[in-house]
Amino acid sequence: MRDLRDVLAAGEVSYSFEFFPPKTDAGQERLWDAIRRIEALAPAFVSVTYGAGGSSRDRTVALTKKIAAQTTLRPVAHLTAVGHSVAELRHIIGQYADAGIRDVLALRGDPPGDPKGTWIPHPQGLTYAAELVELVRELGDFSVGVAAFPERHPRSPDWESDIRHFAAKCRAGADYAVTQMFFDVEFYLRLRDRAAAAGCDTPIIPEIMPATDYRQIRRFAELSDAAFPDDIAGRLYAARDNRAVSHRIGVDYAIATAERLLDEGAPGLHYITLNRSPATVEIHRGVVDKPRSVHALSVRH
Ligand code: FAD
Repeated sequence: MRDLRDVLAAGEVSYSFEFFPPKTDAGQERLWDAIRRIEALAPAFVSVTYGAGGSSRDRTVALTKKIAAQTTLRPVAHLTAVGHSVAELRHIIGQYADAGIRDVLALRGDPPGDPKGTWIPHPQGLTYAAELVELVRELGDFSVGVAAFPERHPRSPDWESDIRHFAAKCRAGADYAVTQMFFDVEFYLRLRDRAAAAGCDTPIIPEIMPATDYRQIRRFAELSDAAFPDDIAGRLYAARDNRAVSHRIGVDYAIATAERLLDEGAPGLHYITLNRSPATVEIHRGVVDKPRSVHALSVRH
């Protein structure tokens, strides 16, 4: 399995897929069905999100290890600083190293319960993601990813400080960044320009969300402060009670967005799967199977 850093350094398009640790047996079954279908696409990596606390965190560690042990996939473990002392973070990173996992997405995280509430660091913990990047780097030869925000981080008072801190986080040792969900390609392009102007050339991989359900996407957009443009929102709203039509609208929109991003030189695509494969696989196939694409040549089949 190739090192993620080599894939990016070679200028190959990195296709990746994101999962979350499910709570129920039925959720496990659906997830593993999705994992097996996505494994057949030979992505550069898959990532597993890290919960706000308690048992969901153990499930992240267990799922990431299981993917490493039982599939041909390269798992990237999301890790946040929320509620952890540095000693605990070291322990989790050590567990990953012992399991042969060498890829971490280092995040600050949000306050549990109320993601928009006041951020209070653990008394023996970290305050910003940049410090977690440094910690992961210090503990071994890991590839490290960070979060990027095409519409600015909701807590950033202005663009100037947002980009300054983003660039500092990258300089702390990030190999790549993955964005928050967005629906307007212009947001991504402007973020990339701003980062470049701040001297940051870390590859920024855009996230692709299959917008196939109006109510779900409106909720996600509210939670993450992402714009839900009238264009796509209006069409999905009109089709909100027709699953097949909504699915088609969302898949086609995501394919068009992904193609434009690749044409603009995005280094990869990071698909949110919501632990289901059909829409994501359809989008990915729509992107890479088109004869037009030089990108298709760089997919690792
Ligand atoms: P930081 O980079 O630390 O930034 C947070 C804020 O602090 C920003 O406003 C930044 O500008 C500011 N800042 C940074 N450094 C400084 C400084 N030195 N001085 C002053 N201000 C500073 N959350 C989860 O809980 N689990 C997940 O698995 C998860 N996965 C994610 C995956 C992706 C791709 C993305 C985009 C987000 C994910 N999140 C996840 C959400 C993320 O944890 C939150 O958005 C969090 O609020 C920000 O994390 P960060 O790593 O960007 O923080």
